[in-house]
Amino acid sequence: MRRLLLAGAGHAHAQVLLDWMRAPLPGVELVLVSPQALAPYSGMVPGWLAGRYRFEDIAVDFAALCAAAGARWLPGEMDALDAPARRVRLVTGEWLDYDLLSLNLGSTLRPPAEVAKSGPALLALRPLSALRQGYEALLQRWATAPAGRPFTVSAVGGGAAGFESLLAVLARLRTLRPDCPVQGRLYSRDAQLLPGLAPFAQHAAARALMQAGVALHLGVEDGAALARDSDLLLWATGAQAHDWQLDPARRGPLAVSARGFVCIDAQLRSVSHPQVYAVGDCAEWTPSLPKAGVHAVRMGPVLLHNLRAALGQGQALAHRPQSHFLVLLATGDGRAIASRGGLGAQGRWVWRWKDHIDRGFICRFVVAPRAA
Ligand SMILES: Cc1cc2nc3c(=O)[nH]c(=O)nc-3n(C[C@H](O)[C@H](O)[C@H](O)COP(=O)(O)OP(=O)(O)OC[C@H]3O[C@@H](n4cnc5c(N)ncnc54)[C@H](O)[C@@H]3O)c2cc1C
Repeated sequence: MRRLLLAGAGHAHAQVLLDWMRAPLPGVELVLVSPQALAPYSGMVPGWLAGRYRFEDIAVDFAALCAAAGARWLPGEMDALDAPARRVRLVTGEWLDYDLLSLNLGSTLRPPAEVAKSGPALLALRPLSALRQGYEALLQRWATAPAGRPFTVSAVGGGAAGFESLLAVLARLRTLRPDCPVQGRLYSRDAQLLPGLAPFAQHAAARALMQAGVALHLGVEDGAALARDSDLLLWATGAQAHDWQLDPARRGPLAVSARGFVCIDAQLRSVSHPQVYAVGDCAEWTPSLPKAGVHAVRMGPVLLHNLRAALGQGQALAHRPQSHFLVLLATGDGRAIASRGGLGAQGRWVWRWKDHIDRGFICRFVVAPRAA
């Protein structure tokens, strides 16, 4: 029996499991390792922060998906890779052998230690499991906050995650406690808000921030220092590689980029170890792609095809990333902004469109329990 090991409950692995459910490959044991069974779909995280969705509604249940696919879900966290010996170490110290490994582990954020130690309450937007705990604890404290006391929420990071999460958190806090005045600030190192988006979308985003009473500070070198007097700090700077990817002793000879992301070829295989595939945020495509869920999702069909090819079924395909893709950003007020290439739009209808697309995506992974 050969073993296909999926590390990480990312967007592409959900598609691999769905495919396996329809057509398992005889003689192959499928194992998925991830710390939690519920993995949130990133596109719906701002809607959850704003209180529009329950966490359960935005998450794929990988334990159920594995059960339905006849795969084994192993609760755990990958901590090291020994690619020459084809084995993975978990944080428990246990080693897992594989014939074929696929990495869909996402990325992380490391707020500077001094920010985490002193200063305002901190919510890093990644990893999402820690965000859930931190946010639920914040909402509990918020329920009993003294009436009338001003509260300031600052976000560091002027990309989609910082923009959407700040507006979502402000909307939620204001709705829950209209008796507490809540202010918002957004700090970004870039001179532009939402770099790379259509000019219309950038202007609409700046307007949405103004309407929500957010003070926008662009071109700021040290947003954390300026946000020190805030009550809550949302940390949403650029995606970073996991610790084991950055540590040569833990990743071994696996080829990674300067930032620690796994270098892959057109077939989504490690350029150094063809038995290792990597997709989504944890992987480095050449030329570099933005760390966006849309790329992880789009890599899914090619990954599942190529994993089958590597196991002897069919021919491998080359992945072709889109140069322009649709970005839909929720503004926390029942509206959203759309951007694609040079085009943009905004309105309630954009939010309904986004909601429809996101619900459609997540619904694909709701599976009926497998009959015993
Ligand atoms: C608030 C927010 C909003 C965003 N909105 C959008 C958006 O609207 N559109 C968009 O395109 N992108 C968006 N992004 C970016 C998007 O979240 C990521 O690019 C996307 O989630 C990457 O998907 P992935 O499949 O690579 O990994 P993920 O979806 O992050 O999944 C990785 C999984 O691996 C697991 N894992 C991590 N480490 C280990 C380990 N060591 N061992 C085992 N398992 C592990 C994690 O628990 C997780 O389940 C947003 C990001 C944030 C933070």
